[in-house]
Formats: sequence, C-alpha cells, structure tokens
Amino acid sequence: MLLLSAIRNGKKRFKLLTEEQKKELLKLAPNIKFDEPLSQHTYFKIGGPAESFLTYTDSRNTQPLKNVLKFCTDEKILFTVLGGGSNVLVSDKGLPGLVLRLDTNSILSSTPYHGSDPVTIQVAAGCPMQKLVKFSMNLGLTGLEPFLGLPGTVGGAVYNNAHFKRDQLFGSFVTKVWTIPFPLDNLLKENCYKQKDLQFGYDLSLFQTLSHKEVIFLVEVILKRDNKEEIEKYAEELLRQRKESQPLDLPSSGCVFKNPEGCALAGQIIELAGLKGLRIGGAEVSTKHANFIINPEKKATASDVLSLMAKVHGTVFELFEILLEPEIFFLGFEQETTRSLK
Ligand SMILES: Cc1cc2nc3c(=O)[nH]c(=O)nc-3n(C[C@H](O)[C@H](O)[C@H](O)COP(=O)(O)OP(=O)(O)OC[C@H]3O[C@@H](n4cnc5c(N)ncnc54)[C@H](O)[C@@H]3O)c2cc1C
Repeated sequence: MLLLSAIRNGKKRFKLLTEEQKKELLKLAPNIKFDEPLSQHTYFKIGGPAESFLTYTDSRNTQPLKNVLKFCTDEKILFTVLGGGSNVLVSDKGLPGLVLRLDTNSILSSTPYHGSDPVTIQVAAGCPMQKLVKFSMNLGLTGLEPFLGLPGTVGGAVYNNAHFKRDQLFGSFVTKVWTIPFPLDNLLKENCYKQKDLQFGYDLSLFQTLSHKEVIFLVEVILKRDNKEEIEKYAEELLRQRKESQPLDLPSSGCVFKNPEGCALAGQIIELAGLKGLRIGGAEVSTKHANFIINPEKKATASDVLSLMAKVHGTVFELFEILLEPEIFFLGFEQETTRSLK
C-alpha cells in the first residue's frame, strides 16, 4: 500500500530552478540542456526529464565543472551524477536541479614498461570501461578480463565496485581515486583517496556510504603483465559466458538484486520462485537471467520496474525467507518508495 501510494506521488513534477539560475548555468556551461529526457541516457530506456543536464567532456580540466558545482552549492541546487546510466533506475518524474553526465573519455597516462613491473594507468572516470579493458589487454596486462562486455564508465564501476563473478571485483585493481566533493567549499578543494580508504566490498565502495556526494573524476589502476594470448583467451571465454547468460540485447540495468551471502545466486533464487517471465506493465523478469528486469518494448515506466521488484522481493521472502537487497541505484524517488525493498 505504502509502495503504491508513493508510486502515485512520484508522478508529481519538481520545478525548482528559477529563470535567473538557468541563465547563470548557461553562462557557466553553454552546452547545458533543460528538461532533457533521461530515458535517452539510461540503458533501461526509462526515466523522466532532468531539470538541467550537463554533459562534461574535458578529462583534464576540472575548473569549469567546479565553477558549475560551486554555483549549485551556493544556490542550493540539487545535484546528481550519472556515468553510463547502466546501473540506475531513474524515476518517471525525473530529476530536479542539475544532472551531470560525465563523458570524459580519455586514458590519461600509463607508466612505461620495465621488465615485469606492474603498470599504472590513470583514466578519466567518464571513460567507458570497455575502452580501459581493451587498452589494458592490448598492453598484455591482466586483471580486467572479467569486465570485457561490462557497460558503463570507470567512475560507475568504482562507485559500485563492479564485479562479474563474486570474487572478481574491479576495486581490487583501483589504487587511487580523485574526486570533487559536493557541496563544494570556497577553496574548491578536490579529494584524493588511496585504496585503503575506499572501503571496497562486494557491490560496495566508500562513496555509497558518505552523507554528501563526490564526483569521481580520475581513477588510477595498477595491473600486472602476463601472456597477452592467454589474457585474450580468458577474456573471450568470460565474454562468451556473459553473452550466454545475460540478455544483453534488451534494455535493462543489469542484475537488480545483490547475490545474498552464503546461499544460491539471486537469479537462481528468483528462478526457483517461478518468477521468470513475470510482467508488470512493460517490465519483465528476463527468461534468460531471472535477476535481470528487462524493458523489451521500451514502454516500461520506473513504476512498472519498482512494482515488479516489490513483487519479486515479496515472493522470495514468502517462499524462502530471504530478503533480497537491490543492486541498482534508485534516483529521484522518495525514500519511502524504495524502503520496502531494503
Ligand atoms: C547488460 C548489463 C550487464 C551488466 N553486468 C554487470 C556485471 O556483470 N557486473 C556489475 O557489477 N554490473 C553489471 N551491470 C551494471 C553496470 O553496468 C555496472 O554497475 C557499471 O559499473 C555502472 O557504471 P555506470 O557508469 O553506468 O554507472 P551509472 O549507472 O551511471 O551510475 C550508477 C551509480 O554510480 C554513481 N556514479 C556513476 N558515475 C559516477 C561518478 N563519476 N562519480 C560519482 N558517482 C558516480 C551514480 O550516481 C549512481 O548512483 C550491468 C548492466 C547491464 C545493463
């Protein structure tokens, strides 16, 4: 009941920016757009409009971005950061304030080869994971093979500590992360975190636990050298497994629930509950991988997905007393809307 009423309330639109604020934002970032449909920026093809939307492409210079973030801080404008949009459910009413899409595409540096020494790579957080994975494989570096075929950006993979199998965590290779905090102070100070500070765990990083936001801007990874042919063979085998098990050709946000500790995988549990193929509105539990919710006709709403997740969550608890925890991140929902899923 709580969930349904919150979904209905979710249809309300925010309109928080004044005309003066919009003009000022345009002065600071001329490519800013207003009322940009977020369904065009998510793998799910779901999400209402961003009140304002900035695509940031400069991998080296943070100053123009900081100017925008300082203005938003001073004006108390709400702020959301998006990478590739492959691990989120954005509400149908959209997102108020500023949405930043980090589209910084560059691999900035890699240390030269020295015998069998590991290689350090610095990469802009908006760089697609695929570019980083292929770059490292071409250099004969091992570690990122499980991420061949992983959608999204390097920053998103840090935020979530992306994984393929449970023990294959991206965070294991991340040694430093540079961020811009939000709200931003008068000194426009950036942060640099070392691996020991990043609290990487399964589907977890420090950034999910902070009470404020941080824009992950630059990431450093260290990878070991190995036999290039072996690396390619292993990566291709994992990609084959990924293609065989995941509905990669249909809009989704990947696995919607985390794998619970110490029992079967979430997908196996949902399948055992007989929920494969279950539909609410345009959203469907994939028949290929039961932990994927798909949007096959691109007609599903965020409310459809949320209702379907609530149904799966409730059924699994009734049958097996297992509380599934969402893996995807909810953006633009009232807390009470998603509380029943936690
Ligand atoms: C077909 C498919 C298969 C997938 N397979 C896997 C898989 O095998 N393993 C896995 O772990 N995931 C998987 N996913 C989920 C997703 O691809 C990964 O979690 C990915 O790392 C998310 O990156 P993104 O850039 O798209 O993040 P987004 O979806 O854009 O954002 C996710 C969260 O990270 C935050 N965020 C993103 N970028 C930044 C940044 N620069 N600074 C601060 N916060 C940021 C956002 O605010 C949001 O809360 C899959 C998804 C799909 C669609």
